[in-house]
Amino acid sequence: MNKLEGLIASDGSAVGPLFIRELSTYETLSKQISSGEVALEIEYYQSAVDAYELELEQLLAKLKGAASEIINSQNLILKDEQIKAEIIKFIRINLVSATHAIDQVYELYISRLRDSASNLFKQRIIDLITIKDRLVKLAATYSEYANTDQIASLSIELTSSVNSKKNIEGTIVVARDMSPTEVVQLSKAKVVGIVLEKGGLTAHASIVAQSLDIPCLVQIGHQINDIPSGKVGIIDGEDGTLLIDPSPEIIQQYETRISDALIAKKKIKPSRHPAITSDGERVEIHANIEFIQELPMATRYRAEGIGLVRTEALLYGGLTHKSEKEQDVYYRRLLEDSTGPVVIRLFDIGGDKLYGFTTEESNPFLGWRGIRMLLDEKEMLHSQLRTILKCTRDYPDRIRILVPMVTNIAEIYALKKELSIVQNELVKEGFTKTQNVPLGIMVEVPAVAVMADKFAREVDFFSIGTNDLTQYTLAVDRTNDQVGRLFEHDHPAIWKLVQQIQVAAQNANIELNVCGELASTHLGASGLIGLGIRNLSMKPSSILSVKKWIHNYSLFEYKKFGSKVVHAQDRKQVYQLFSSIFNRS
Ligand code: PEP
Ligand code: MG
Repeated sequence: MNKLEGLIASDGSAVGPLFIRELSTYETLSKQISSGEVALEIEYYQSAVDAYELELEQLLAKLKGAASEIINSQNLILKDEQIKAEIIKFIRINLVSATHAIDQVYELYISRLRDSASNLFKQRIIDLITIKDRLVKLAATYSEYANTDQIASLSIELTSSVNSKKNIEGTIVVARDMSPTEVVQLSKAKVVGIVLEKGGLTAHASIVAQSLDIPCLVQIGHQINDIPSGKVGIIDGEDGTLLIDPSPEIIQQYETRISDALIAKKKIKPSRHPAITSDGERVEIHANIEFIQELPMATRYRAEGIGLVRTEALLYGGLTHKSEKEQDVYYRRLLEDSTGPVVIRLFDIGGDKLYGFTTEESNPFLGWRGIRMLLDEKEMLHSQLRTILKCTRDYPDRIRILVPMVTNIAEIYALKKELSIVQNELVKEGFTKTQNVPLGIMVEVPAVAVMADKFAREVDFFSIGTNDLTQYTLAVDRTNDQVGRLFEHDHPAIWKLVQQIQVAAQNANIELNVCGELASTHLGASGLIGLGIRNLSMKPSSILSVKKWIHNYSLFEYKKFGSKVVHAQDRKQVYQLFSSIFNRS
């Protein structure tokens, strides 16, 4: 038995006879034509384009998500007006056959891509080769059947021949490289796996293979000619190897493994599994917790952590603050009954959250709220920080501190100072110094969003509070029903800010999550994922529905939506984009 190592481009194992597919580039002889034959050659070319378009349409009808986008992009190349015009001009000026003109013009584009420094462009080479080869073949066939009466029936014949690759059913197809279109055709022909000598993990062929659930290895690093056609092969989707000519016992082992995996897959329920897009991108889902009673639901739906603890809930009842003992019980209970990180937000008092001791203000949301109040009420702040720091000793690496309503860098410096005062006090009291607790800020005021790059240097993570960010950006009181319909947390302005924050967090290499309500809607989660956010925190009752939604679509679709919402002119356009991209139920 021989074993070759590759990279896993699409998960899963497969067993089947190996079918070696050479990439057949057609030799096109330069055939000179007379000026009287020009119109006919142009017609062969155009008929070839039409027939190929029909083939792609048939493929598209069976596809969804990223795969359909990729085939669509092939369709765009095929229909590209500039390429078309150049081929027609080539026939006219050089008086050559359509097949030769197609070959020459496409070769020109291919060589430009080869010379390009961009890997992304290089990935398109295989697309162009596939289109070129298919067009040449179709045009050659049309020219053979020069009698135009036969051309209509020929189209049908040619298209149906594409769909009849029955002889390769059940095989593992091994090729040097492959176009996404061919992956689709192979899937229809029911091949069980694909192995490519070249290819990349993010190459279109790999994306389509993932989307169609065909196990696929790339960069097998071996001349495919040396692989014996017809022998049994096994794709091991766990270690990324291709086993050639294995013993019957090994074949049996893998067949059992594959059928077990199939059964397990059918049992997957989004509630019990992490959120993964249809093409395999992980999105972490955390829970927003206000009351202890919400925890069981978060656990049931497998929240991967608590992304926001609204500690103000401790203060309901109008008390100025809870004793350290009471706080301690609350935090420990949260830590005990959950897994993963627990982001404890410091008391976010003020705004609509008045607890008896805050003064009456005419604009409470623009007033003495969150960090502004905490820095004035040191006793309260210290008691909270003390309790949190004490908990960290028993739950190392799980606690994070989140600061609400930050608008100035100075507030972060001031908070850090208070944090070290409390640390030192604890050491003096005999507590061993704990490691630094990650410190993050709510990004919920537009000033912070637009200066996110500066704030990102000062903290360990950002949490976007889209509720307040919407209220402050759109100047809409979140509690005022009269302007409730203007509270558009999916307004393009919010998307633009989110994008800016995401870029800043990424550049500064700090963590980012979204804990505002936007994350708990299908539209919101889609745009946030599309803009590069991979951690969403929401009320436990939304988790299941958001997870299910995420499973349904590909990262490609989310990115498409994300890249467009930031350019929408209003919410109406955002909704139109949403329904045009996510039109499957
Ligand atoms: C927010 O502002 O989006 C947020 C999550 O915090 P809160 O709703 O508690 O103000
Ligand atoms: Mg808020």
